[in-house]
Amino acid sequence: MSSISRSVGIKRVPIEEERQQLVTELVFTIAISPHQTAQVLKFIGQRLPKLSGIEHVKRVKKHPDGGLLVIMCQCSQISREALSIELQGTEWETLEVAEHAVPTVAPYTAEQYDLWKAVWPVSYRPPVIVRTVLSPDDREYIERILRYVADSMSTDDEDVVVAICSPHTRLIIAETTVSQASRKVHPLEHAAMCCIAQVAGAELRRQESASDVLPAKRPHSPSAVDDDSNGDYVAGYLCEGLDVFASREPCVMCTMALVHSRIGRLFFLAASPSGGGISRYSMHSYKSLNHHFSAFQCSITSTDKI
Ligand SMILES: [Zn+2]
Repeated sequence: MSSISRSVGIKRVPIEEERQQLVTELVFTIAISPHQTAQVLKFIGQRLPKLSGIEHVKRVKKHPDGGLLVIMCQCSQISREALSIELQGTEWETLEVAEHAVPTVAPYTAEQYDLWKAVWPVSYRPPVIVRTVLSPDDREYIERILRYVADSMSTDDEDVVVAICSPHTRLIIAETTVSQASRKVHPLEHAAMCCIAQVAGAELRRQESASDVLPAKRPHSPSAVDDDSNGDYVAGYLCEGLDVFASREPCVMCTMALVHSRIGRLFFLAASPSGGGISRYSMHSYKSLNHHFSAFQCSITSTDKI
């Protein structure tokens, strides 16, 4: 006898900073002897623009000939001619001013640090570990919902299933299946959007009936409170802290809706072949957006057990 066993893989999608490629900008440097360091730094502090946005870059670097290379200032801050004028009358007037590339942003991962510091010495502070460790109970719940989502899919690969759950009760609050046929009828009918609309409908009914349609009113920060002009209606963010499970990676529009509704975590099974909001644009951690969430790409593998 053999039976089918299904194992679930859950892999966190790196955040934007982890994907950052090395970008450099130019700085003016001069080569000095080590005993001149204090004097040169004093001059720089008094006469030249402060480094801006590259505080992770170390001011001084060892020179191959045994001396030191000192960053005077960023090339974007002052022209070479203006720098020469500042140096006139100092004991460094005759030194050659060179240009060196330095990393523009601070390294986030240890691998980036190794790459960055080969260009110019930089300081590095390992980040607070992103929530990656799932407790056994949490993992059991995530696997259960992912299997449910996978089982809810019809044989049509184009169908998209989305379920929204409370991580506290570990129960499904809203779920939607959208077929390719219905998307053709209404191009904006995407499963994630429909599912968020369901949560909105449930929240509205809960408020109207003051009954517990949802397990509990979810807490939200004071900044999330938005009074309307009547002053008697208070709305929190719709999906604040909730978990979203999707059979397919949400598109850019749906990912933006998830950001706006302040979800806590997204688990999706199939990555978008053309690149969705997560795999292509890292919208779960996009710096200029005012909400970030954790995203996990998941898989379900069936194996025969004998
Ligand atoms: Zn979509």
